[in-house]
Amino acid sequence: MSELVIRQIPVLRDNYVYLLHDEASGATGAVDPSVAGPVLDALRETGWRLTHVLNTHHHHDHTGGNLELKQATGCVIVGPRADRARIPGIDFDVADGETYRFGGHEARAFDVPGHTRGHIAYWFPDSRALFCGDTLFIMGCGRLFEGTPAQMWASLGKLKALPPDTRVYCGHEYTQANARFALTVDPENPALQARARRVDDMRMKNLPTVPGTMGEELLTNPFLRADQAALQVVAGTLGDPVATFAEIRHRKDIF
Ligand code: ZN
Ligand code: FE
Repeated sequence: MSELVIRQIPVLRDNYVYLLHDEASGATGAVDPSVAGPVLDALRETGWRLTHVLNTHHHHDHTGGNLELKQATGCVIVGPRADRARIPGIDFDVADGETYRFGGHEARAFDVPGHTRGHIAYWFPDSRALFCGDTLFIMGCGRLFEGTPAQMWASLGKLKALPPDTRVYCGHEYTQANARFALTVDPENPALQARARRVDDMRMKNLPTVPGTMGEELLTNPFLRADQAALQVVAGTLGDPVATFAEIRHRKDIF
């Protein structure tokens, strides 16, 4: 089976909307359409017909284009069951462990509460692609608006278990600032130092740093590494990954 074609659309200040296209069936999805205009432009350019919107969470910068896209294209809107009431125009909901059929492909849903209480992620195993909204960022993670550190640590644990060649398509281009912070809590990590330099170089050329791979995240993302002694020593919470995660998240909030 052929992989999904994935097109990345930068919108607003630093959001990414993703268009997914299954060539065999014609199914086309927009993941977290902040706004409709740039998505409609991309559809015109590609000749694809929008069949789905896939939302990860209710925040306006991820759902703001839902209703206009539905009206313009007749697409169906899929989102988190736990947050059905807050997803504009939702038709179908999914929850942890369920699969959703998208054209000839299958998306597996994970409940990943923490940033919001109903946040989900979509994993397409045969395209090695993860759409994780504002749960996992490249070298970072989402703020805890509606969840606890223990919840977010458990959510990130589900994503960490995916294959290392999984491509991480997150909701924002926050990578450069995340790397700067990561170096303050994991300063001796050579993989992080090298990746931070690569990211500076890419951003200087205005290139997107998203997607990255889960393998790279495991080596460089401090929020996935709260179970590592080096991070626990810096946080002063040796032996306690949740307390380490909480301390690192707190430091990032005030960074
Ligand atoms: Zn958000
Ligand atoms: Fe966001």
